[in-house]
Amino acid sequence: MADWQSGFYRLSVEQRQQLIQAHLNLTAEEVEQLQAHTSFWGSQMIENYLTNYELPEGVAVNFVVNGKAYVIPMVTEEPSVIAAASHAAKIIGQTGGFKAPGTPRLMIGQIVLENIDDFKLTNDWLVQHQLEIIEIANQAYPSMLARGAGAKTIKVRQLDGFVSLDLLIDVSEAMGANVVNTMSEAVKSWLITQGFEVVTAILTNLATESLQQATCAIPIDSLGNDGMQVANQIVKLSQLAQVDPYRATTHNKGIMNGIDAVMIASGNDWRAIESGAHAYAVKDGQYRGLSQWTIVGNTLQGEITLPLPVGMVGGSIGIVPTVKVNQAILKVTTASELAQVTASVGLAQNLAALKALASEGIQAGHMRLQYRSLALAVGATATEVNQLVARLSKMTNVDQATATKELALMRG
Ligand code: NDP
Repeated sequence: MADWQSGFYRLSVEQRQQLIQAHLNLTAEEVEQLQAHTSFWGSQMIENYLTNYELPEGVAVNFVVNGKAYVIPMVTEEPSVIAAASHAAKIIGQTGGFKAPGTPRLMIGQIVLENIDDFKLTNDWLVQHQLEIIEIANQAYPSMLARGAGAKTIKVRQLDGFVSLDLLIDVSEAMGANVVNTMSEAVKSWLITQGFEVVTAILTNLATESLQQATCAIPIDSLGNDGMQVANQIVKLSQLAQVDPYRATTHNKGIMNGIDAVMIASGNDWRAIESGAHAYAVKDGQYRGLSQWTIVGNTLQGEITLPLPVGMVGGSIGIVPTVKVNQAILKVTTASELAQVTASVGLAQNLAALKALASEGIQAGHMRLQYRSLALAVGATATEVNQLVARLSKMTNVDQATATKELALMRG
């Protein structure tokens, strides 16, 4: 590319939009689209800022978690995710809803050492200096200590060629990445003065000290006339996700459909949650489903556990205006409560997907909702969409060409 991009970061947002227009031949409408979604807060958050990208937001309803009813903001571009979550939550809500225990939440910072000849000697030394290490970490971020949080303890792990000093930190209501990194780097600097060779100091996203569980129990007859058959099939699909990574990946993708949507709506770092969830899914060496379903007596029981190091403050949470509105809708007051609700959404999403697979198959319900996206993609206007969706719903083998043809027929 030409050198018009050098120094791009120094330009104002307006100058960047003009340059992009000139060099990449954007139409006037395309530039208007960029300009219409420009915001000051966006320009302060990322580099080479151009505009705000929009995603649809909806709310999942019918959720009851630990006896409290929630309306849950979800941001997703995928049709059927919010409908599926609300549908499953309704079934689960009829018998008390989800149970999601509040558990202690710690983040982990890694200070990784190399050229360690004697692991036992190093381990003993680090354990003996635990209080000093914790104090150094807390001095690096005293506001955490002031809130009664901060670095709590250490663990030492022997790795192939390395030793990881894991610093366990209470980050209070934050997700804590920056807090943890600041503390870890302070400990790194001190360890270097003590003669250690340090490879890196950074948090891990495998947040095994911030695990969140959610469970539910559904009377089998609430799954319809063929409830037992559906329940048996759900259990079978759950077992399959425990033994086949190919199935488990899609099983977990369905769970993350819901979890990511809540994470984005609540201003959380969904990549951090994604990476932690998938790493946790392979914790015993084989990639497995994050949730499991069993039949106990007359009930179908579901359980999910995954790392959910979520925040109510920090990062983009205080900056993106809609996040504040979403907090007001969700009415969650602590990060722990947000994790409880999020795990419940993951379990609901999973039930909806497995129930659909166990009965009519995933495509029937999914495609009805996908037709709306298809209609928009082929250019249907607001007044044409419903009619085109109705026409496509009656057809078999619907694809883009069919939708285009049908729209043309409609228009005469
Ligand atoms: P911040 O750096 O924003 O730190 C948390 C902020 O929240 C602090 O300013 C803190 O104030 C304030 N705060 C106010 N009240 C509380 C409270 N009750 N409990 C805790 N903090 C409070 O965010 P995080 O450290 O949470 O880091 C999250 C960000 O880091 C995200 O944007 C994420 O994308 C990013 N990130 C993620 C990485 C990863 O996942 N690997 C790596 C690097 C960054 P005070 O300073 O007074 O304590």
